[in-house]
Amino acid sequence: MADSSVADVDAQALLDEANSTAGEQGEPKFTLELNQDQKDIREWVHGFAENVVRPAAEEWDEREETPWPVIEEAAKIGLYSFEAVGQFWADETGLTLPIANEELFWGDAGIGMAIMGTTLAVAAIFGQGTPEQMGEWIPQCYGTPDDVKLGAFCASEPDAGSDVSGIRTTAKYDEAKDEWVLNGQKAWATNGGIANVHVIIASVDRELGSRGHAAFVIPPGTKGCEQGAKVKKHGLRASHTADVHLDDCRVPGSCLLGGKEKLDERLARVREGKKAKSQAAMQTFEASRPTVGAQALGIARAAYEYALDYAKEREQFGRKIVENQSIAFDLANMKLEIDAARLLVWRAAWMGRNGHKFENAEGSMSKLKAGEVAVWVTERAIQILGGNGYTREFPVERMHRDSKIYTIFEGTSEIQQLVIARAISGFHIK
Ligand SMILES: Cc1cc2nc3c(=O)[nH]c(=O)nc-3n(C[C@H](O)[C@H](O)[C@H](O)COP(=O)(O)OP(=O)(O)OC[C@H]3O[C@@H](n4cnc5c(N)ncnc54)[C@H](O)[C@@H]3O)c2cc1C
Repeated sequence: MADSSVADVDAQALLDEANSTAGEQGEPKFTLELNQDQKDIREWVHGFAENVVRPAAEEWDEREETPWPVIEEAAKIGLYSFEAVGQFWADETGLTLPIANEELFWGDAGIGMAIMGTTLAVAAIFGQGTPEQMGEWIPQCYGTPDDVKLGAFCASEPDAGSDVSGIRTTAKYDEAKDEWVLNGQKAWATNGGIANVHVIIASVDRELGSRGHAAFVIPPGTKGCEQGAKVKKHGLRASHTADVHLDDCRVPGSCLLGGKEKLDERLARVREGKKAKSQAAMQTFEASRPTVGAQALGIARAAYEYALDYAKEREQFGRKIVENQSIAFDLANMKLEIDAARLLVWRAAWMGRNGHKFENAEGSMSKLKAGEVAVWVTERAIQILGGNGYTREFPVERMHRDSKIYTIFEGTSEIQQLVIARAISGFHIK
């Protein structure tokens, strides 16, 4: 029989050598240990979530209004800024962005979305705009700490949610004036109507479906871009959601993200029957899915931690309720599911940041799993808190309401399954 201690030592030596050689060759070592920068950012965002966001959560949920003072606080410490998002994004492991989102949404999801909602518009400008457009519009999405502003990304319409190819908002080019004229109605837009900068997905050629879409920036105060009805919601109530109406809304030619030449080239390729490289709305969603998954994780973790503490305190039948297997096993499974979802989120974030194609729809997997876990974990948390869990005196009720949107927006759970099923099978599953 082999001497297992010698075998262990040899295996360890081999591992050490492999890791050090990998390092020398510039290959990243595989590790799940966070580096100091990641830990510092996690602590920084956690501190803000714990000290500023959590204490304000109940109030803004009840008020159902945008928590401007909290956004201003976030801007003052630099958390609500492009510099912060840029710094999170710059981490080449891809993990800082999900880590920061998880911590913020652990504080509260409604306020978290009020702070992070702008990033969807920023991601569209960053992903599709020219360097000049990024320089002009991204700072205007944030404003300054003394005068904070918001951004809104408007793709969905009353008859085009999951099916973005159904978008009816049109953008027509007025060559004489070098202006685009937009007409249509956007639905459920986060920050819709109260944003300084709106990014609108519109159809420039309806016959081409989603391949005929383009993204436009609507500059602040543009005539013809108005807020419609504000939506009253089940959860995420500190985040503003509204319809946006576009009535002969004229914007300069330079507001087409990426520019006209690029659009004309892309449309020509599509009309010739060639594959288009990207679809305006889809490109934004692909990149943001792991981040959205991380937000759901933050909610799930908050509910799990609350339920665990409660179960260790609450006594019935002369013992702590955690001493009952049914409660303890639920908590064990809650922790298990959260950690499993986080691994999927981190994998997708790492793949996205390092240019690995989502061959098996790993971005969708991460968002699907994290969203479903958040709904399940928060529901279990209510159960563990019993009657208290069902009341607004305890936060898990709000967390459950907040979690539900994560199986709906940025692609419903069914649509994520569709994307995964198509990716793994190669069949056009319907
Ligand atoms: C709080 C909130 C914030 C939002 N923020 C934004 C935003 O900032 N910007 C924006 O553009 N949009 C936003 N949305 C819109 C959101 O992205 C859509 O609601 C979502 O994409 C689903 O579309 P829908 O509501 O039209 O549902 P539908 O597409 O009508 O779907 C209804 C049901 O049918 C299922 N279904 C549909 N098609 C299929 C299929 N092919 N196979 C199986 N099942 C299917 C769906 O999964 C779902 O269960 C927001 C929505 C909410 C509620």
